Amino acid sequence: LQTSIKSEVTLEGVGLHTGNKSALTFRPAPANTGIRFFRADLPGIPMIPARLGFVVTTVRGTNLGLGDAKVHTVEHVLSACTGLGIDNIDILTTASEPPIMDGSAMPFVEALLRAGLADLDAPKRWLHLPHEVTYEAKDGARYRAVPADCFAITATLIHDHPMMPKMSLSVTVDRESYLTELVRARTFCFEHEVAYLKSQGLAQGGSLENAIVIGKDKFNTNAEGLRFPDEFVRHKMLDLIGDLTLIGRPLFKMHIEAERLGHAHNVEFAKLLDEAAKKLRKPKTRILEAK
Ligand SMILES: [Zn+2]
Repeated sequence: LQTSIKSEVTLEGVGLHTGNKSALTFRPAPANTGIRFFRADLPGIPMIPARLGFVVTTVRGTNLGLGDAKVHTVEHVLSACTGLGIDNIDILTTASEPPIMDGSAMPFVEALLRAGLADLDAPKRWLHLPHEVTYEAKDGARYRAVPADCFAITATLIHDHPMMPKMSLSVTVDRESYLTELVRARTFCFEHEVAYLKSQGLAQGGSLENAIVIGKDKFNTNAEGLRFPDEFVRHKMLDLIGDLTLIGRPLFKMHIEAERLGHAHNVEFAKLLDEAAKKLRKPKTRILEAK
């Protein structure tokens, strides 16, 4: 069955890139409405669907827009929804960027669990792949998905940096493993990028309370230290799940292998998956199924 939440719940904080204070409210939504953002601070409370067609930019985050209404850095919020198996939910923000909280998806998941999950009276609409889908980019990023009967990700991080050896992890993703393996992994950046990011108007709300900063010879973190030795690859998986949510079919029956992950690549790969899955849903297929 499709899933929403039982009651409304609100979180407050600052946006990672804009530094804007904002509140984010999750609201229950009926079956087949999908995941939608609303700008509660703008006249008319414009709606922006969390779908691939509304991605406007993918610089250091996945940003959606419809007309003049934009919502930045949506990936962690979306990851939390998909990690819990939520298909339908309205997400209201009071600024152009949701709060970054601790840099992971944990605060969103905690809020959603506080609100309680609700089964809706409609069957889940799985994303079925008809065949293998591959994607390669000039920078060496490579993605591959094969049809399967569960959702699994193998992610590999390759950075030319002394603190970041090649790092690989495989996780079969369900609600339980999402909560134990992925949800707590925080966002990160490299120390040498910080000044540049700030000069570009990015990371204005960034601090060690919501990000790990990788220095030449050490990890700069809050007092908590690293949550996992390979927190970085786990966060990239969390991000991928968030970006794939934009397909609008929130549960996946496929195995994905991805190397050198990034938001732009995640979104392009999601488009290929969406196109491949749509072929299966063409009228010809439906007639065959009806026999
Ligand atoms: Zn992220």
